[in-house]
Amino acid sequence: MTDTQEIKNRLDLVDVVQDYGVQLRKSGRNYAGFCPFHANTRTPAFYVFPESQTWRCFGACAEGGDVFSFVMKKNGWDFRETLVDLARRAGVTLEETRPKDAAREAIEDRQVALLDAASNYYHQLLLHAPQAEAARRYVSDRGLNDDTVNAFRLGFAFDSWDAAKTHFTGQGYSEEELLAVGLLTEHEERHTRYDRFRGRFMIPIRDLDGRVVGFGARTLDPDGIPKYLNSPQTALFDKGHLIFNLDMARRHIRDAREVVLVEGYLDVMTAWQHGFRNVVAQMGTALTETQLRLLQKHSKRFVLALDPDAAGAKATLRSLQLARETLDRELDVRFDARGLVQLEGRLRADIRVVTLPEGQDPDKLIRNDPAAWPRLLAEARPVVDYVIEVVAAGLEPGDAKGKSVAATQVLPLINDIADPVERDHYFTKLGKTLGIDVAALRQAAEKQKKDRRPRTTSGGSRPPYHEQPPPIQDGPPQVGDQPFVPPEPDVPPDGTGIPARGTLNSGGKIATRRLRHSPRLEENFLRQCLEHPGALPAVNYLLTRHKQQEVSAADFVRVEDKIILDIISDRTTTPSVATIDELCDSLDSAIAQRVRALFEKPSTLGNKLDRLPDSLALSVLDWRLEKIREQNSILKQFLPAGGRFDSKDELTQSYLDQVQEMKRINHARDAMSATGRRRAEEGLSGRKTR
Ligand SMILES: [Zn+2]
Repeated sequence: MTDTQEIKNRLDLVDVVQDYGVQLRKSGRNYAGFCPFHANTRTPAFYVFPESQTWRCFGACAEGGDVFSFVMKKNGWDFRETLVDLARRAGVTLEETRPKDAAREAIEDRQVALLDAASNYYHQLLLHAPQAEAARRYVSDRGLNDDTVNAFRLGFAFDSWDAAKTHFTGQGYSEEELLAVGLLTEHEERHTRYDRFRGRFMIPIRDLDGRVVGFGARTLDPDGIPKYLNSPQTALFDKGHLIFNLDMARRHIRDAREVVLVEGYLDVMTAWQHGFRNVVAQMGTALTETQLRLLQKHSKRFVLALDPDAAGAKATLRSLQLARETLDRELDVRFDARGLVQLEGRLRADIRVVTLPEGQDPDKLIRNDPAAWPRLLAEARPVVDYVIEVVAAGLEPGDAKGKSVAATQVLPLINDIADPVERDHYFTKLGKTLGIDVAALRQAAEKQKKDRRPRTTSGGSRPPYHEQPPPIQDGPPQVGDQPFVPPEPDVPPDGTGIPARGTLNSGGKIATRRLRHSPRLEENFLRQCLEHPGALPAVNYLLTRHKQQEVSAADFVRVEDKIILDIISDRTTTPSVATIDELCDSLDSAIAQRVRALFEKPSTLGNKLDRLPDSLALSVLDWRLEKIREQNSILKQFLPAGGRFDSKDELTQSYLDQVQEMKRINHARDAMSATGRRRAEEGLSGRKTR
């Protein structure tokens, strides 16, 4: 939970507001009072909604927010001052001042110390134990010198069931501790515990901080199975989150502006020994999303150096697919002659592939001829070339079905290319390689793009980035509709309410509604704009074009979200930090927590980048409508029965203004979805004829 959420959970906005001298009276589920921010004496215009812990002035301010924005506004404080004050009031220790859980930290420290001692223990055995002769021979056969053996702290484990167990229990560690870090294995039935690593060449695996968290252990027996045995999953050793040698390589990756991914630990070590230090290895078969994000922090250019076998090629295809889905995309926003937004999504990372010659791996290749390595890397080809080659390999000329499958695999990659000339090049190349008519390929590509788009219906397109937006097609109730009918008959008029004025609707009782507005649309909006800095100006452009206000702090309820919108605006003008992690590092921790929380749910975006601003702009209108409808359902209570409006009364005036505003938004929304549909269709037919 974020610090701000924790504070909100512990404080009651009703108390806080009253402590600032605002008198509140219960009104149904909610509380009403005179607004402390403007001259408000006739009808209480200031509402507090305990369920959502938000407030709103329905009068002249037309403003609202959470406990933070109330206190900020009341005191003229900034967010930081308010955060510190409310944290103290709520008894919440802010993250930056919070000590880690002491007990957990002590356990982790002990585990790290144990693994460090284990890597030293194995290392000393490799250097000195008479039984390690075969391991030392293996090291020299592999051409690893003393510097490398020391830098990687390579080791040897006795071919024994209890050598490590005896050694470390003798040093005061319990068997449970040895089990917890993966040095011991427990027999499932007999529950006996024995050394996990026996008669193996030991390669310590370090995390990003350089701490040993586990081992990769290679058998020294030519018939030994498995060839490599890794530490089991433990609290410290999580294969999906680790990249071999990234701690030592990252400085070099930054310098070289390139990271080279190889398949084996030995490939990395041999490369290191020969001065190629931006080389790392993935920890299993296919790359994970976390690994990709980890690497992306250090470089945007990836070279995958792969063994030439077919299984490797398949794993690579999977990795590449994942890479496309995972890595940052950037939006190019342009405006065409008619002022319509043109967008292209493009993978921010540059992924290249190099295949090693038959029978080679990086280790062998570098040992035979170190100069061949940079030459080979220089030949790394763009990923599309590689994929075309892989999918075309082994296809029979007459295999129509196979060709279609192959094309389906390559087309998304080609669709991802922003540059039309380059895209053209690959259509031609794919056509030639598969022996398919290029026009047919283009058609298939457009179809793929179209299929990924949301379905449009005669009732208007739906924003595609959230599953099911609330219905908005029912317009606002017409002013003058009498008598007043509550728009949500399922909400019982259960409050006693304050008599706002002599004329009450609905039999003298006021039912203030529960605020039902869901923050989902805003959260998705912020997340997408953080990820795609081009999106906000494009959305604002669309809104302005349809005579709607640009997105502003007033569109958000949570104070963090208001601040995050500012950050997004800054990001569109200054090409600052590249990744969300780097952004979070630069933020106040309470804001960073909110940003991370926004990214916790998986993105629903998929491959629909080109429609992003359209759908975001529509979602802005949707949530504005949703909010106004909620506010109006409360304001309606103040309308006089009989349809005679006193336009001098500020609440009545607010209501009338809001009804007009709702009409304008609905109008803009219709126009916007019609334009979006037309643009999508024109885009398709335009490309076909090219
Ligand atoms: Zn006010």
